[in-house]
Amino acid sequence: MKKLNSSSYKIEGTKKRLKEVQVRVNSALLAAGRKPGETSILAVSKKKPVAAIESLYKMGQIDFGENVIQEASRKVSALKHLNINWHFIGQIQSNKTREIAENFQWVHTVDRIKIAKRLNNQRPHQAPPLQICIQVNQKGESQKGGIEPSGVKSLAYEIMELPRLHLRGLMTIPPLAKAPEETATFFSLLEEQLNRLKEEGIPMDTLSMGMSSDLETAILNNSTIVRIGKAIFGPRLQNEKYI
Ligand SMILES: *Cc1c(COP(=O)(O)O)cnc(C)c1O
Repeated sequence: MKKLNSSSYKIEGTKKRLKEVQVRVNSALLAAGRKPGETSILAVSKKKPVAAIESLYKMGQIDFGENVIQEASRKVSALKHLNINWHFIGQIQSNKTREIAENFQWVHTVDRIKIAKRLNNQRPHQAPPLQICIQVNQKGESQKGGIEPSGVKSLAYEIMELPRLHLRGLMTIPPLAKAPEETATFFSLLEEQLNRLKEEGIPMDTLSMGMSSDLETAILNNSTIVRIGKAIFGPRLQNEKYI
């Protein structure tokens, strides 16, 4: 019998938890009267080792999210033999846009035109357009990124003009809530905002909302991508080695 060392043991746990999250997503879709596959799982692998990413990839998980560019770039290069869709979900400093434009397929956290223009200019020409979500800061929380709801429409129009970017939708990290109903309010506001923009002729199909603790609430409010870290990879520890 194959002896398990401690790291492969943890990976077995991660694989089991991915299956559990898939079941949660499917049940939530069913409960919401939506079709299977209408919400995809973005596995948020920040602080987690490349070996865990690779084993989930072998199970068919191809979308992974990272929020620190230095860590992400190392993982992208360590795993370049795999066809992973990398999603950037962290706050963006302008001196990091080139690395993001070169290494990622999606960016969920665009909140100002300066960053959008830099990503557009720095996107390599052989690569397809970078898929973009506008991050909305729904309650004016200063510690979080995101543009205020009233600024979203004009930013969306500006991004539509940029040929190397493909605007896909909106993303939010709702304020910490005591009850799921509070979170539901923010998710439904984001959905309403997306629908209004679509009615005005901005073609978008993505609502990036919902994390480990509130994915059911998000799916009930028509989320199309849930960003799941802890529920798949377990708690994030301080100094975990990711390579
Ligand atoms: C870390 C992170 C997540 C995942 O959060 P969990 O609670 O671990 O599921 C989702 N979205 C963003 C933007 C994150 O930074």
